[in-house]
Amino acid sequence: MKTCILCNKSYKDEYTSCPVCGFPYLETLDGGDRSEEIVLGKVSRAMEDLMSQVTVSVVVYAYEENQSGLLELKREEELLMARGRQLSYGRAFWYQEQFDGVDRDCQINILVRDIKGRERQHSLDIASAGLAESWQIGVQLEDELKIRILLGHEDKYVRSEPVSLL
Ligand SMILES: [Zn+2]
Repeated sequence: MKTCILCNKSYKDEYTSCPVCGFPYLETLDGGDRSEEIVLGKVSRAMEDLMSQVTVSVVVYAYEENQSGLLELKREEELLMARGRQLSYGRAFWYQEQFDGVDRDCQINILVRDIKGRERQHSLDIASAGLAESWQIGVQLEDELKIRILLGHEDKYVRSEPVSLL
Protein backbone atom coordinates (compact mmCIF):
# COMPACT_ATOMS: atom_id res chain seq x y z
CA MET A 1 0.00 0.00 0.00
CA LYS A 2 1.03 3.55 -0.65
CA THR A 3 -0.05 6.51 1.41
CA CYS A 4 -0.80 9.84 -0.18
CA ILE A 5 1.45 12.44 1.40
CA LEU A 6 -1.06 15.14 0.63
CA CYS A 7 -4.39 13.78 1.92
CA ASN A 8 -3.23 10.68 3.88
CA LYS A 9 -5.37 8.28 1.83
CA SER A 10 -3.97 4.74 1.57
CA TYR A 11 -4.14 3.25 -1.92
CA LYS A 12 -2.92 0.30 -3.97
CA ASP A 13 0.68 0.04 -5.10
CA GLU A 14 -0.23 -0.09 -8.79
CA TYR A 15 -1.58 3.46 -8.76
CA THR A 16 0.86 6.21 -9.58
CA SER A 17 -1.31 8.95 -8.13
CA CYS A 18 -3.83 9.25 -5.35
CA PRO A 19 -7.40 8.26 -6.35
CA VAL A 20 -8.83 10.76 -3.87
CA CYS A 21 -6.97 14.00 -4.53
CA GLY A 22 -4.96 13.14 -7.63
CA PHE A 23 -1.60 13.98 -6.14
CA PRO A 24 1.19 11.87 -7.72
CA TYR A 25 3.04 9.34 -5.64
CA LEU A 26 6.45 10.73 -4.81
CA GLU A 27 9.22 8.38 -3.93
CA THR A 28 11.53 9.70 -1.28
CA LEU A 29 14.94 8.89 -2.70
CA ASP A 30 17.72 7.59 -0.51
CA GLY A 31 19.57 10.82 -1.09
CA GLY A 32 18.87 11.97 2.41
CA ASP A 33 17.74 15.38 3.56
CA ARG A 34 17.87 17.17 0.25
CA SER A 35 15.43 14.94 -1.64
CA GLU A 36 13.12 14.94 1.32
CA GLU A 37 13.24 18.72 1.28
CA ILE A 38 12.26 18.72 -2.38
CA VAL A 39 9.38 16.33 -1.77
CA LEU A 40 8.14 18.31 1.21
CA GLY A 41 8.39 21.51 -0.82
CA LYS A 42 6.25 19.95 -3.56
CA VAL A 43 3.72 18.76 -1.02
CA SER A 44 3.38 22.09 0.69
CA ARG A 45 2.97 23.89 -2.65
CA ALA A 46 0.38 21.34 -3.82
CA MET A 47 -1.42 21.67 -0.51
CA GLU A 48 -1.48 25.46 -0.81
CA ASP A 49 -2.85 25.23 -4.35
CA LEU A 50 -5.56 22.78 -3.32
CA MET A 51 -6.54 24.75 -0.27
CA SER A 52 -6.43 28.21 -1.82
CA GLN A 53 -10.15 28.10 -2.72
CA VAL A 54 -11.28 26.61 0.56
CA THR A 55 -13.13 28.78 3.05
CA VAL A 56 -15.32 28.01 6.04
CA SER A 57 -17.87 30.69 6.93
CA VAL A 58 -20.84 31.13 9.18
CA VAL A 59 -23.97 32.40 7.49
CA VAL A 60 -25.60 35.18 9.47
CA TYR A 61 -29.22 36.05 8.91
CA ALA A 62 -30.29 39.56 9.80
CA TYR A 63 -33.91 40.39 10.50
CA GLU A 64 -35.31 43.85 9.92
CA GLU A 65 -38.66 45.38 10.66
CA ASN A 66 -40.66 46.15 7.53
CA GLN A 67 -43.22 48.94 7.09
CA SER A 68 -46.00 46.88 8.68
CA GLY A 69 -43.84 46.23 11.71
CA LEU A 70 -43.17 42.60 10.87
CA LEU A 71 -39.78 41.05 11.04
CA GLU A 72 -38.40 40.16 7.67
CA LEU A 73 -35.35 38.19 6.75
CA LYS A 74 -33.34 40.90 5.14
CA ARG A 75 -29.93 39.80 4.26
CA GLU A 76 -27.46 37.08 4.58
CA GLU A 77 -23.90 37.72 5.54
CA GLU A 78 -20.96 35.45 5.49
CA LEU A 79 -18.61 35.62 8.40
CA LEU A 80 -15.31 34.09 7.37
CA MET A 81 -14.01 31.66 10.01
CA ALA A 82 -11.10 29.97 8.33
CA ARG A 83 -9.24 29.82 5.06
CA GLY A 84 -7.97 26.52 3.72
CA ARG A 85 -4.38 27.63 4.07
CA GLN A 86 -4.84 28.06 7.81
CA LEU A 87 -5.70 24.38 8.23
CA SER A 88 -3.23 21.61 8.85
CA TYR A 89 -3.48 17.95 9.78
CA GLY A 90 -3.56 17.10 13.45
CA ARG A 91 -4.20 20.59 14.76
CA ALA A 92 -7.58 22.26 15.00
CA PHE A 93 -7.88 25.85 13.85
CA TRP A 94 -10.01 27.97 16.19
CA TYR A 95 -11.64 31.19 15.11
CA GLN A 96 -10.88 33.77 17.77
CA GLU A 97 -14.31 35.34 18.22
CA GLN A 98 -16.38 34.14 21.17
CA PHE A 99 -20.10 33.68 20.57
CA ASP A 100 -22.73 34.21 23.24
CA GLY A 101 -24.17 31.18 24.98
CA VAL A 102 -27.33 29.63 23.54
CA ASP A 103 -29.82 27.70 25.65
CA ARG A 104 -32.64 27.19 23.18
CA ASP A 105 -32.93 25.05 20.07
CA CYS A 106 -31.24 26.74 17.21
CA GLN A 107 -29.03 25.98 14.31
CA ILE A 108 -25.93 27.47 12.90
CA ASN A 109 -25.35 27.42 9.17
CA ILE A 110 -21.83 26.80 7.98
CA LEU A 111 -20.89 27.53 4.39
CA VAL A 112 -18.01 25.43 3.12
CA ARG A 113 -16.28 26.26 -0.15
CA ASP A 114 -14.38 23.20 -1.37
CA ILE A 115 -11.16 22.92 -3.39
CA LYS A 116 -13.09 23.48 -6.64
CA GLY A 117 -14.81 26.56 -5.27
CA ARG A 118 -18.21 24.84 -4.93
CA GLU A 119 -20.29 25.99 -1.98
CA ARG A 120 -22.37 23.84 0.30
CA GLN A 121 -24.25 24.74 3.46
CA HIS A 122 -24.32 22.56 6.52
CA SER A 123 -26.68 23.10 9.43
CA LEU A 124 -25.44 22.24 12.88
CA ASP A 125 -27.66 21.89 15.90
CA ILE A 126 -26.37 24.18 18.60
CA ALA A 127 -28.63 23.02 21.43
CA SER A 128 -27.21 19.49 21.30
CA ALA A 129 -23.73 20.91 21.65
CA GLY A 130 -24.56 22.26 25.12
CA LEU A 131 -23.24 25.74 24.46
CA ALA A 132 -24.91 27.56 27.32
CA GLU A 133 -21.82 29.66 27.89
CA SER A 134 -19.58 31.38 25.41
CA TRP A 135 -18.22 29.24 22.62
CA GLN A 136 -16.03 29.29 19.56
CA ILE A 137 -15.95 27.63 16.18
CA GLY A 138 -13.05 25.47 15.14
CA VAL A 139 -12.14 23.56 12.00
CA GLN A 140 -10.31 20.24 12.04
CA LEU A 141 -8.64 18.88 8.90
CA GLU A 142 -8.79 15.09 8.60
CA ASP A 143 -7.53 12.41 6.23
CA GLU A 144 -8.76 12.40 2.61
CA LEU A 145 -9.24 16.17 2.70
CA LYS A 146 -12.25 16.16 4.98
CA ILE A 147 -12.99 18.71 7.63
CA ARG A 148 -15.11 18.69 10.75
CA ILE A 149 -16.62 21.77 12.31
CA LEU A 150 -15.98 22.01 16.05
CA LEU A 151 -18.30 23.87 18.42
CA GLY A 152 -17.11 24.68 21.91
CA HIS A 153 -13.65 25.37 23.20
CA GLU A 154 -10.25 23.90 22.55
CA ASP A 155 -10.51 21.61 25.58
CA LYS A 156 -14.18 20.61 25.19
CA TYR A 157 -16.17 20.58 21.98
CA VAL A 158 -18.58 18.64 19.79
CA ARG A 159 -17.67 17.70 16.23
CA SER A 160 -19.80 17.75 13.11
CA GLU A 161 -19.90 14.87 10.66
CA PRO A 162 -16.97 14.96 8.24
CA VAL A 163 -17.38 17.27 5.23
CA SER A 164 -15.35 16.51 2.12
CA LEU A 165 -13.40 19.28 0.48
CA LEU A 166 -13.10 17.28 -2.76
ZN1 LIG B 1 -4.42 12.11 -1.88
